[in-house]
Amino acid sequence: MTAGDAQELLDRCDELAAISASATGIERVYLSAQHAQAHARAAEWMAEAGMAVRQDAAGNLVGRLEGSAPGLPALLIGSHLDTVPDAGRYDGILGVLAAIAVMGRLASRSGTLPFAVEVVAFGDEEGTRFGTTLLGSAAVAGAWREEWWGLTDRDGVTLREAFERFGLDPARVGEASREGEIFAYLETHIEQGPRLEDLGLPLGVVTGIAAARRMSLTFHGEARHCATPYDRRHDALLGAAEAVVAIERTARSLGAMATVGRMEVAPGAVNVIPGTATLSLDLRAETDAERDAALDAILDRLTAICAERGLTLERQDTHCAAAVLCDARLQAAIGEAVGSSGADGGAGAVPRLFSVAGHDAMAVAGIAPVGMTFVRCEGGISHHADEAVTLADVEVAIDALERTVEVLASAQASSSPSSW
Ligand SMILES: [Zn+2]
Repeated sequence: MTAGDAQELLDRCDELAAISASATGIERVYLSAQHAQAHARAAEWMAEAGMAVRQDAAGNLVGRLEGSAPGLPALLIGSHLDTVPDAGRYDGILGVLAAIAVMGRLASRSGTLPFAVEVVAFGDEEGTRFGTTLLGSAAVAGAWREEWWGLTDRDGVTLREAFERFGLDPARVGEASREGEIFAYLETHIEQGPRLEDLGLPLGVVTGIAAARRMSLTFHGEARHCATPYDRRHDALLGAAEAVVAIERTARSLGAMATVGRMEVAPGAVNVIPGTATLSLDLRAETDAERDAALDAILDRLTAICAERGLTLERQDTHCAAAVLCDARLQAAIGEAVGSSGADGGAGAVPRLFSVAGHDAMAVAGIAPVGMTFVRCEGGISHHADEAVTLADVEVAIDALERTVEVLASAQASSSPSSW
């Protein structure tokens, strides 16, 4: 009943899309009421698929199917259910629901697989609420950082307070770590780019995930009456505006991807020269070295802009992630699964793609080999209400994920999962 699974997945995406903090779009952030609501619904689906379900100490949802003996190391499959503001309905969600669909098919084989299989719905991948991404998967990877507790959302609520309001105990976050308990992680995700669409193929094997950095850059000038002559002004917003253009040009010339998505200006009065302007910078490149070279070049340009305008620049790093390579054996298993599902267009060559976007797999890679499959999305559009996938593509995505589990099961039937 493959098509039935795909239709059910799409229907579930629609149902989750209705769980939103915004009346005009989809918005579901970490440790919010919508997070609790979405996870409660996903927990029901996990239980229906035969899993033992629990919420971990960081608010991630986990469902487990035991293997041929209780307590075996687990193959972890999943993605995230949190969203950016005005999100689409498939980014992250598709991967969690595809994993649940596969578990429904595997349920009849409970107790026979050479490993346990777990589905995870991470509570925070996007980092929208606290400005730091991958909080959910970092907890699972045992990489939680003490300094995160003081991070605040736009209403001034600290991460610690948000934990407590959600019913979690900050002191126990370490219990979410799965170090030594999972032997591999698989994630299915929409591509968030147009390459599969250009190739006319539904699925691709991800080879790795870009190196990324996020920071906030504050330009400090002088807030003065608008009667101040030009040659006496130190206008922070004009410096920031020049910086935004310089950031794009510099990153572009070096093959990096830079995005300024937010700017805040103070004091924010129509007749006052801006005294401070703070912008966000998201910078990505294929390797750590390329990313850092682009950052150095950008900072050189911003320093020059500040010097010209009599401004000072303050930088606060909020996120830094090394490039992550997907495991060669998992890439091979996914490639075999995609090829045998006929989703390679019959050409026998499954596309291999590099991911510019970050994913939970980056954090999980700290404790286990990771593998990812991309699913074609219309126009490569994501983080937008226009995100779209087709029923046929979802069908082959579920099939390929199921076959990947089968390929891993046959590979491991004669060896120990810990050898991975
Ligand atoms: Zn995502």
